[in-house]
Amino acid sequence: MTASDLTLVRGVCPHDCPDSCGTLTEVRDGRAVRFSADPEHPITQGWLCAKVRPYLERVYHPDRLRHPLRRVGPKGAGRWERVGWDDAVAEIAARWKQISAEYGAEAILPYSYSGTLGMVQLAVASERLWNRMGASRLERSICGAAAEHAVKLTLGARLAPDYRDVRHSKLVIIWGHNPVSTGPHFMPFLREAQRAGTEVIVIDPRRTRTAQGADLHLAPRPATDGALALGLGHVIVAEGLYDERWLAAHTLGWPELRQRLEEYPPERVAEITGLEAETIVMLARKYATAKPALIKIADGLQRHRNGGQTVRSILTLPALTGQYGLRGGGLAYSASDYVAQALDGEVVSRRAQSPPPGRKVNMNRLGAALLGEASDPPVKALFVFCSNPAAIAPNAGKIAQGLRREDLFTVVHELFMTDTADYADIVLPATSPLEHVDLHRAYGHSLISYNAPAIAPLEESKSNWDVMRLLAEAMGFEEPWLKQSADEIVDDIVLSAAAKSPLFAGITPERLRASGALPLNLPEDFVPFADGRFGTPSGKVELRCARLADEGVDPLPGYIPAFEEGSLDERASDGRLVLISGAAHHFVTSSMANQSSLLAKEGSPFVEIHPEDAQVRGIATGDTVRIENEYGDCELRAVVTDAVRRGVLASPKGFWARFSPDRRNVNWTAPDVLGDMAGQSTFHSNLVRIRRV
Ligand code: SF4
Repeated sequence: MTASDLTLVRGVCPHDCPDSCGTLTEVRDGRAVRFSADPEHPITQGWLCAKVRPYLERVYHPDRLRHPLRRVGPKGAGRWERVGWDDAVAEIAARWKQISAEYGAEAILPYSYSGTLGMVQLAVASERLWNRMGASRLERSICGAAAEHAVKLTLGARLAPDYRDVRHSKLVIIWGHNPVSTGPHFMPFLREAQRAGTEVIVIDPRRTRTAQGADLHLAPRPATDGALALGLGHVIVAEGLYDERWLAAHTLGWPELRQRLEEYPPERVAEITGLEAETIVMLARKYATAKPALIKIADGLQRHRNGGQTVRSILTLPALTGQYGLRGGGLAYSASDYVAQALDGEVVSRRAQSPPPGRKVNMNRLGAALLGEASDPPVKALFVFCSNPAAIAPNAGKIAQGLRREDLFTVVHELFMTDTADYADIVLPATSPLEHVDLHRAYGHSLISYNAPAIAPLEESKSNWDVMRLLAEAMGFEEPWLKQSADEIVDDIVLSAAAKSPLFAGITPERLRASGALPLNLPEDFVPFADGRFGTPSGKVELRCARLADEGVDPLPGYIPAFEEGSLDERASDGRLVLISGAAHHFVTSSMANQSSLLAKEGSPFVEIHPEDAQVRGIATGDTVRIENEYGDCELRAVVTDAVRRGVLASPKGFWARFSPDRRNVNWTAPDVLGDMAGQSTFHSNLVRIRRV
């Protein structure tokens, strides 16, 4: 697709979003002049979200890092000198060798997450070098670990239906999820269904943009969704609306679940959730009688201390009503396992060719780890890429404290000087997705996509993988898989998947490079679980799960309060409110939260508070307020609105601390306590006090 002076390059939006949009970059004289959506991509359909539309602002942002930098002042003072790549790489390798010799390689901790979702620039870059070194590994539990664990243990795999199948749903319950902001390409299909008569119900303590377009919005108290699901199950069973034949054929533990559901009559669930008992009965009847009915969840509702069990409880509902495997019914969570099941993990990680894996450090406990929780050996070196933990991780004040340690050697590879890079010893400039090769799988659909570089790396920027290759060489590692180019890795991943799985039949690296995105080889009429087979040990939906019992978790879905008794009762409030910090509409976590046009649209960091909660505290819209708890505090702008239910505060995540007058953000109050499954983060199980400053 080239004209004499214009090149059109197909790429992929790499950000942490289920849609993995296809993109087109127009390049003239080596410069990207236009960035837009691929009209031929079946999910993207020619439009990009508000966050990514002005993407060239990000690529050519005046604050892009252009050269490696070395700290010359105290940590966090912002004084740097320019160094060459050779010097920077030699210094990093020398420090790592010295630390390894003295403390062992586990004293080195790489920290990365979803700044890009690419299989080369994130997955391979997070594995190969670090496995070869025997460095500490990250327990990747900041996002959806509990839900993933719950879904895998209950259903065997994360296999969401195609977005387009929502046309067949009679009812859609969107539960603790705001796809208008966090997965917007589902919405045109939902709206089309709605116009054709599908009823849409949103369950969320906040009236989100998605809730505004729903036919019905229910706002239970935060972290009570599990009790609500069990209450719905109670009504479905009590009123004989369940599918006994399906339960007998396809589930394990139905008799035990039936007994458990007896504990959740609507009156008790009403007390817990703050919804009316009649509303719970109405919702149960609607759900059980509108076949097919789809339940769509994401990761917000499981970022609680009881998040794993919340998801387990919700997963019982399509089983009770025999909805798994119905087109337009069942569960829409994540499509990640289509590709994951086909991949050869060894090609990504090279674990079998490396020393035994290093110890794991839970990424939600970074501050604690830096301050001594990881003590054998202590963390002496940190390498951060694809993430900005000082802004996005819980208990951010503790992280800042840890990053200030004079004996910690920190390297940050980034596009911008972030809250984390502020504390680095060495900062390395990273490429944007327009400047490097990558391969993408999606977690919202089953297309696999190739990202071709559209322009040369900006000044001295290098891709994640190119930096890993340089560091591997400087460390003296000779393995050929540490020297491969990104395109050679793409070839290996695709060809090994094609050899392993019929899902990759006909998918070749050449076709991917020519087409941009290709669908996996699923049958045309494919619906997950339509064959009645689940990838669990029993082959059934495991309502009772023995493996959870082995982990010390209740093997049956159940509800354990996330907060101490009484703290959610608005009438007897001790003054604390539950703070939820969901996604901003204009940022992807902290990515893009330094672009002035998007900051202007999102507004300065704010917190929403219900008018009655505001009145008793003398708070008005526009006031500067301080939120605080035992973890820390930060100042925000108050927005008084009935969009949040009483007892709840909502403040979007992603704002960078370095742009706020108090140099803090909402995560200074976020607990670093772990949830009930898989070391999950618990951002929303956050009780705070709020007062006018
Ligand atoms: S953030 Fe999501 S919706 Fe926006 S362009 Fe990227 S993939 Fe598409």
